[in-house]
Amino acid sequence: MIGVLALQGAFAEHEAVLTGLGYSYTEVRQRSHLTGDLDAMILPGGESTVMNKLLNDLGMFDELKAMIEEGLPVFGTCAGLILLSKRVEGGSPSLATMDIDTVRNAYGRQLGSFSCNGSFAGKEIPMRFIRAPFVETAGPEVQVLSETGGRIVAVREGKQLATAFHPELTEDTTVHRYFLEEIAGLSPDRNR
Ligand code: GLN
Repeated sequence: MIGVLALQGAFAEHEAVLTGLGYSYTEVRQRSHLTGDLDAMILPGGESTVMNKLLNDLGMFDELKAMIEEGLPVFGTCAGLILLSKRVEGGSPSLATMDIDTVRNAYGRQLGSFSCNGSFAGKEIPMRFIRAPFVETAGPEVQVLSETGGRIVAVREGKQLATAFHPELTEDTTVHRYFLEEIAGLSPDRNR
């Protein structure tokens, strides 16, 4: 089962993509939802400071971090990328499971939200950025999957994937399929 962190932010949009691709999911809202039944986890966009606080207040932080460190496939978009970053300029590190330096609200207030096309793992896709971060430096184990406009905007480290943009807000499902199939090794549910 795929878990979607549903504390705050754009989780419903990820759920719609999963449904469209034929995967079922469960909303993760409290500590008891962090179980061994989860095959993968999505951390949506939203406000990283709020999500970080809620993870702590709800007593979910340590368990989620441990599960990711033990190899639970995880996909973070935008605020989700910030939560995964070991170092955050303009914010504090949270789960800190990916060896990346991230700049929060990196495009400035005026240019904070825009759409463009960029290459992701060798394929041209539409990208939507909303008060987005970018990755300033990526550690040696981190694979850069997209460098768009001279900025690193998609990275993979083992079973962790993070994008500065929001693939759940476009019609293109390349990034979700990459995560589900290539990283998590999952296929759509058969008996739906
Ligand atoms: N700027 C937000 C943050 O710092 C991220 C924006 C987003 O997720 N769209 O968490």
